Amino acid sequence: MTGSKHQREKILPEQPARQPEKIFLTPAEALAAIGIDFAQYAPQIELFCNLVPLVFGNQALVTSGATRDELWLRIGARGSPERLDGRQLGERLVARLQEAPLPLERLAAICYQVFRGRTVTGETDGTPGLWVETGMEDFVCQRCGRCCSTLDFKNGGTAADWERFEALGRKDILDWIAPIRHDGRVVACRLWVDPLTGRFADGCPWLVKDAPGRFGCRIHEIRPEICRQYPGSRKHAEMTGCIGFCHRQRKGISQQEATSDPRKVFHG
Ligand code: SF4
Repeated sequence: MTGSKHQREKILPEQPARQPEKIFLTPAEALAAIGIDFAQYAPQIELFCNLVPLVFGNQALVTSGATRDELWLRIGARGSPERLDGRQLGERLVARLQEAPLPLERLAAICYQVFRGRTVTGETDGTPGLWVETGMEDFVCQRCGRCCSTLDFKNGGTAADWERFEALGRKDILDWIAPIRHDGRVVACRLWVDPLTGRFADGCPWLVKDAPGRFGCRIHEIRPEICRQYPGSRKHAEMTGCIGFCHRQRKGISQQEATSDPRKVFHG
């Protein structure tokens, strides 16, 4: 006699808790990462407003103006209010962080909010810095193909990508890459350029549809670095439409099917 679903679930061994994935950032790297974060997404007004007292001090105040993107920043109790839009407020925050470095604990509190991951001070090889949790231990690629078909990877090819494809003799892949040379050396690459027209292709030429809503990559094992690195964190995924953290809510697709190594089963 087979047990009920409830009974079967009860005798399954518990999954060991996954260790949080984290990265180490020196203070300079943390500041650079904050600048990149602010620049790559639309202005994160709520985040910026929360950061104002952490960056400028408790006397600083930001209030909203008459229009949706109008903000007024006042630094210091007697400072004059300054009119900014969301992007300008982000730039002011980054500029202040760069000109007046904060104690590491304060920087950790800022990174916690910016990167949406637990952040603690620490060190590696005697270098002080921050450990930032990325949340990636919970990522499971759903092979929806959104990243491959909607994100802009055009200028993301590296010299290492070019060299790898050359070493492998993959002329078929090299044909779709426009190398950028400096002093005769390839320093970066444009992806993917149609060899017939010389123009960027409409989409990734290596993406294949496997089933309704399921995609694979024909060069998965040797794909460009920028594809390997996506998404870099849970926030990166959430901000760019990746559904790799929704697997617990989804029905009809098992964890095994939705391999944690995206598009793994499809390679050329
Ligand atoms: S990485 Fe994210 S967006 Fe890309 S295929 Fe996987 S689940 Fe979809």
